[in-house]
Parts: sequence; C-alpha cells; structure tokens
Amino acid sequence: MEENIATDCIVIDDHEQGYDLDLFCIPKHYIEDLERVYIPHGLIMDRTERLARDIMKDMGGHHIVALCVLKGGYKFFADLLDYIKALNRNSDRSIPMTVDFIRLKSYYNDQSTGDIKVIGGDDLSSLAGKNVLIVEDIIDTGKTMRTLLAMLKNYNPQMVKVVSLLVKRTPRSVGYRPDYIGFEVPDKFVVGYALDYNEYFRDLNHICVINENGKLKYKA
Ligand code: 5GP
Ligand code: MG
Repeated sequence: MEENIATDCIVIDDHEQGYDLDLFCIPKHYIEDLERVYIPHGLIMDRTERLARDIMKDMGGHHIVALCVLKGGYKFFADLLDYIKALNRNSDRSIPMTVDFIRLKSYYNDQSTGDIKVIGGDDLSSLAGKNVLIVEDIIDTGKTMRTLLAMLKNYNPQMVKVVSLLVKRTPRSVGYRPDYIGFEVPDKFVVGYALDYNEYFRDLNHICVINENGKLKYKA
C-alpha cells in the first residue's frame, strides 16, 4: 500500500549520495576536507524563497520580529529576509519587520552537548507582545530550540514561530519539530552556508558533508 505522508519539507534520504565536489566551485582551502556537496547553494535559495512565501501567508498580518540565532543562522536569515522584503515591496499587503540577534553555544567538535548557553545578543525584553520568528540553521536533537523557546516565554511574546533551514533525522531527537523546515537531512554532520565546524566552513556556499580529514584538521 502506498503511504500518503504529507511532506512539509524537502526530504533528503539516507541513501542520497550528493554531488561530486568537482562538479561545483569549492574554495581551494577546503577541497581536501569535504566528502560531497549535499545541498547546492541554488537549491537552498529556491527553497528559501518558498519558505518566505509560506511564512508571510501565516504571519504577514502583523509586525514580525525576526530573531536570528547566531552564528550558524546568519546566511539563511539574510537570504530569507531578502525574499520576505521582496514579497513586501511587490504586494498590496506589507508589514514592517525588525531584526534581533541571539547567540547560543552548545556544540563541541561535532557533538551536541545539550548544555546551552546564551553568549550574547539583543535584550529580549523588546519581544513582549510581538510576533517572533526564530530563524535557525539546523535542529539536531532539538534541545537548543526547546531551551530557547522556554526562555523566550518569560518575555511574553504574542506569538513565536520557528523556521529552520535543516532538520536532522536522528534517534537523539527529543521530538521537537519547527513550524517551517527547508530540508530534512540524514544523521550526518554538515557544514557550509554559515554552518561551521569549530568556526571553519562558514565561508562555503553549498551545504556539504565534512570528511575525516576535515574533522582532524579543524579539531578544537
Ligand atoms: P541541538 O540542540 O538541536 O542538538 O543542536 C542545535 C545546534 O547544534 C544547531 O543550531 C547547530 O548550531 C548545531 N548543529 C547541529 N547539527 C549540526 C551539523 O550537522 N552541523 C553543524 N555545523 N552544526 C550543527
Ligand atoms: Mg544553530
């Protein structure tokens, strides 16, 4: 029997091989450190354009505060907001959007520690009564987002929605699923498009899988 599962994102399955590095432009300093190109930059952009439309459809009635989770979310945040701005300037219905930033840290090498710290950003008391859109790079176990959502509640926002570019399929998941998702990916450590490995690989356009050489070279 064919299963009829509604898809809310692009699902990249476990057998997906990605693309050979030689088929794309990769910075020379990373060529030895990556396995494959997993999600090409163009596909990220196309999916982001659609997420912008879905978000505006749901949240476009009131002032949105877009909250960027640094550092990994900054590329997705910038591109998503560009698409939302394009919708706003080409439509009869448009809303003001303001931006806030928060910096969290939870990872050591390629392991989620579950110990989440706010290490900088804006004063969150300005979120009271606002419609907040949290913009995150990737949900792995979901612990970071659960913690952030619990924290934000104390500031009494009117509404909180979460958009994450990536969600990992992992047995370590706490079961959290964001409101909007770009891609669901296998349980592998990915880098690029602002996602880092100990601060490296943010300067890479495509989302790629890092190899053992890369893990060793940039180990903390
Ligand atoms: P969680 O608390 O959901 O386990 O982890 C969330 C955070 O860990 C993400 O926001 C991201 O910063 C980092 N993270 C999780 N998986 C990956 C990954 O595959 N690659 C990179 N670069 N960061 C990840
Ligand atoms: Mg993050």
